[in-house]
Amino acid sequence: MNKKSSCADPFEADALSVNEARKKIIDTLKPVTNIEKLALRSCLNRYLSDDIISPIDVPSHVNSAMDGYALAGNDLPNNKAKDYKIVGTSFAGKPSTENYKLGQVTRIMTGGVMPVGTDTVIMQEQVELINETTVRINPIHKIGQNVRQAGEDIAKGSTVLAKGRQITPADLGIIASFGLSELCVFRKPRVAFFSTGDELRSIGETLSEGDIYDSNRYTLFGMLKKLDVEILDMGVIADDRASIRNAFITASEMADFVITSGGVSVGEADYIKPTLKALGDSHFWKIRMKPGRPLTFGTLNKTTSPAWFFGLPGNPVAVMVTFMQFVQPALRYFASGEFNPPITLQARCSSKLYKRAGRTEFQRGIFKQRLDGTLSVERTGKQGSGILTSMSIANCFILLPEKSTGYDINDLVEIQVF
Ligand code: AMP
Ligand code: MG
Repeated sequence: MNKKSSCADPFEADALSVNEARKKIIDTLKPVTNIEKLALRSCLNRYLSDDIISPIDVPSHVNSAMDGYALAGNDLPNNKAKDYKIVGTSFAGKPSTENYKLGQVTRIMTGGVMPVGTDTVIMQEQVELINETTVRINPIHKIGQNVRQAGEDIAKGSTVLAKGRQITPADLGIIASFGLSELCVFRKPRVAFFSTGDELRSIGETLSEGDIYDSNRYTLFGMLKKLDVEILDMGVIADDRASIRNAFITASEMADFVITSGGVSVGEADYIKPTLKALGDSHFWKIRMKPGRPLTFGTLNKTTSPAWFFGLPGNPVAVMVTFMQFVQPALRYFASGEFNPPITLQARCSSKLYKRAGRTEFQRGIFKQRLDGTLSVERTGKQGSGILTSMSIANCFILLPEKSTGYDINDLVEIQVF
């Protein structure tokens, strides 16, 4: 029998596995090197272009962790309660002006600087106030208790946040605690995208027979928006060789990434691959996965400043799956220098999963946490690559590896939580 490649044949010599495709992306793509200096608040979610080294100890001075009374630990009562004279007050930001001496305590509030000679704080709830100037302390305390040491959180000179890290709200707080008002971060990736297909109409246009509204540009917009990149929406381009070529040139001049959907199969009107080859390099164009087999990755403008090209399939679910598996980690790698494919967890199947060996499948699933804390997952129903509602209902992908031939109820499977 004459064995011809077709959509139904996953065993194609020129198709890459999911991991081979990811490796190809890391080996090809060059992360951004341009840096910008921004006000601290504007750095949220951006990627650090340098390590952040602490210029000071945090906290900068030894201080109390409680409201109470400070004294020298070696002056604590030994075996019976002892009375102390209250001398001086240390509030946060207002240290005591009195010299502390043995036999005394200093009234101290949380964050107050420990007076010279003291190293221990007794919580106010644990003392007996005899009168306005005397407290009684029981022999139950430990030397050094309730005190925060200078540099206990961050020691001066230590690397707190590493280059490439995405800045979180906690990081903003840490950096503010150093008194820094500005930071250097990598510039945001610029991403241009367009849909291809003669059948596609934009919202607001009327549909003729056989037309459909372009939905891919909206899912792509949503996924890109979440990544906080600069977005250039170039609309719908017809299945016409010259128009597609022009769109490639314009997009690659403006952007670091050019993303298209549709026209990557081998149909008569599929001009994406030949255009990529004419204007740049194609690194791969087929993956052993479902959905998303005809995914193209390439380089445009390779002599000047390269634009990385992803030709996503046309089918709406395939667009989302290939974006989440490849484009999103590639954008993050470009923006930060770190490549992190989606994290997987394990869950028990609550329904049987059918599959053929030879390709990785990303079925849409709904996972739940059971009473015993473990996770269970079920399929969303119809898994066709045009069923966009499957992505809307799902809260995870069920990841079925290439070799798998399916799973039984209660088998452990890997899931990727959205
Ligand atoms: P293609 O890869 O161009 O052959 O497209 C595969 C399928 O996805 C066809 O049924 C197209 O009509 C559909 N499709 C392509 N682009 C879009 C789009 N932007 N929005 C919705 N469906 C699309
Ligand atoms: Mg098409």
